[in-house]
Amino acid sequence: MNVADSELVESILVDQGYKSSNDLNTADVIFINTCSIREHAEDKVHSQLGRYELIKKNRPNTIIGVLGCMAQSLKQDILERRSCVDIILGPDSYRRLPDLLNRGKNQPKSLVDTKLSRFEVYDDLFPSRKDGINAWISIMRGCDKFCTFCIVPFTRGRERSRNPLSIIEEAKKAVDQGFKEITLLGQNVNSYLHEDYYFHNLLEAVAKIPGINRIRYTSPHPQDITVELLSTMAEYDNICNYVHLPLQAGSNKILNRMNRTYTKSKFLSLVDLIREILPDVGISTDIIVGFPGETDEDFSQTIDVMNRVKFDSAFNFKYSPRRGTKASEYDDQILERTKQERLQEVIALQKRHTLERNIKLVGTTQTVLVEKESKMSSNHWAGRTDSNKWVIFSKGNVKIKEMTSVYIKKAKGITLHGELIQDLEEAA
Ligand code: SAH
Ligand code: SF4
Repeated sequence: MNVADSELVESILVDQGYKSSNDLNTADVIFINTCSIREHAEDKVHSQLGRYELIKKNRPNTIIGVLGCMAQSLKQDILERRSCVDIILGPDSYRRLPDLLNRGKNQPKSLVDTKLSRFEVYDDLFPSRKDGINAWISIMRGCDKFCTFCIVPFTRGRERSRNPLSIIEEAKKAVDQGFKEITLLGQNVNSYLHEDYYFHNLLEAVAKIPGINRIRYTSPHPQDITVELLSTMAEYDNICNYVHLPLQAGSNKILNRMNRTYTKSKFLSLVDLIREILPDVGISTDIIVGFPGETDEDFSQTIDVMNRVKFDSAFNFKYSPRRGTKASEYDDQILERTKQERLQEVIALQKRHTLERNIKLVGTTQTVLVEKESKMSSNHWAGRTDSNKWVIFSKGNVKIKEMTSVYIKKAKGITLHGELIQDLEEAA
């Protein structure tokens, strides 16, 4: 989401005649687009701001701006602790950037705008995209779910969806620019609703645009995964056979305290339904360990769901208390050591499951979008399967951005290793 928002900010400024630069030491203006989801993300921003302070010492006219979620949630802290910061803009205020920048030049005092809007979706502004493979397209903003651990509803405000016509126009433009994959984005992407136009309607309309090889979406909420959505995914080949299904926790008591709106058994039935409608689907998840009040027994329920589902991959987090959220005020916070132990257990188990799931693909042929050179070797490409698994294979005659067939020979760690079908055919 922040990559997409940064592209949006860039396009607003480029429209005003600014030029983007990657050189911090010569730039006139430096923006940092921030995330508040966990403490770790905020720590990284603070250490970055420390670096910018030094830059500003050497070049006092450099304008420094903090954008996004931290601007929203920590404006007071930033103003007090970081004298180098000139501009603080929340995620709904990017249109004000050119105006603030012009005023910033003459005014030494910080300029702050962190008002949240019920309407801003930046509908008419198309992001400035670098040449690449995947185009992020933001389709809705904000979140109304208020999970008790989560800062998003406070930093990003109320849920609102973009007009489908504008989304489709943006997707067509991305295809014309040579992008092969589109990822529809939203804090709660599948609760997209514009008048009576639902997420599955939008997905279908995007799938029909000629020239889009792959469509992905993130991040969905289990509550809004519908049969219509899964059927649409089954119907269109270019919608990837992959669902991110954030579990968070397996215990009903914890799920309830998290305000996640589903129970363990509802979640498991949803997985069954997904696998029934989309055979061979890749399913990933998010897990939080050490939520307040999570006992060993509660935690064992998370492990139980993992063992039953065997996710293809998982993003695992230690619970991080966020100021202003309900869960941060619960008085049964979990010891750091316990959180760490649980995290290690979840990571180790997921590693085994990922390998187990990946081994099932050995001996099959997968369609892979060639995305980049492998980090391991300059003779190999890395690309993803439809089900979102990385595959490494010898370069052969294929090029980046092409779709190609790869025979899977081996599963190792979290990646697959294969050989181009065209190379195998030539050898035969
Ligand atoms: N809207 C999506 C998730 C978006 S946030 C959903 O509801 O599933 C991405 C992930 O960050 C969450 O799924 C959660 O696992 C994690 N997360 C959010 N707040 C957190 C917190 N306070 N501590 C630890 N992890 C958190
Ligand atoms: Fe946060 Fe997702 Fe819950 Fe919204 S649905 S509050 S974004 S975790």
